[in-house]
Amino acid sequence: MGMKKIFFILLVYCLSFSVFAVDVQTMRKTALPGTVALTFDDGPTVEYTPQILAILRKYHIKATFFMVGMNAKAHPEIVRMVLADGHAINSHSMTHPMLTKLNDVELYREITEPQVVIKNIIGKKPVCLRYPYGASNEHVRSVIRENGMMPMPMGWNSFDYDRPGTDKIVNWVLLNAHSGQVFLFHDGFEKREQTVAALPRMIEGIQKKGLGFSQICTV
Ligand SMILES: [Zn+2]
Repeated sequence: MGMKKIFFILLVYCLSFSVFAVDVQTMRKTALPGTVALTFDDGPTVEYTPQILAILRKYHIKATFFMVGMNAKAHPEIVRMVLADGHAINSHSMTHPMLTKLNDVELYREITEPQVVIKNIIGKKPVCLRYPYGASNEHVRSVIRENGMMPMPMGWNSFDYDRPGTDKIVNWVLLNAHSGQVFLFHDGFEKREQTVAALPRMIEGIQKKGLGFSQICTV
């Protein structure tokens, strides 16, 4: 192979990266002005994710899902439903540990395995990883970045996992709904029937405040 040909191949290689590679460092962490972002962690599940999808579809809202790798692996058909509805699919680790308590080998696995799982199902890697329990440190965040993802903090806590009753979830969310807000909900691991029941009322209340909806982890 001549030098010119090698140079040409290198040039194409570099250009393809600059044109097609998504710069994860520019991923948006907050909702667009005039909107809030609905985010769902810990799924997918057969019980709750399809119910949430049906509600979001009814209101024409695109949300952001942070999936646990082992749950995505167990329910690839639900992952594909989430994708088909136009929602953003991102990572929430492989098994939902506190990433700050892992050794380097465990940490690497928790960060990279869901990338493989999700890519195998939907054909593309997640661009963000929301660390479980909101627990991170400089090392955890740098390993997430080294593996091509943006480390994402938890959103505004709806406390839906405490299952305090639908009214309390709705009121707490509406009290804290403002431009740019990122709300954290859950569609997995425990019973999430209150999240499902609260969702239509939260959406309508947010709309009454004149706010729209946007996704995070997009450019
Ligand atoms: Zn979680």
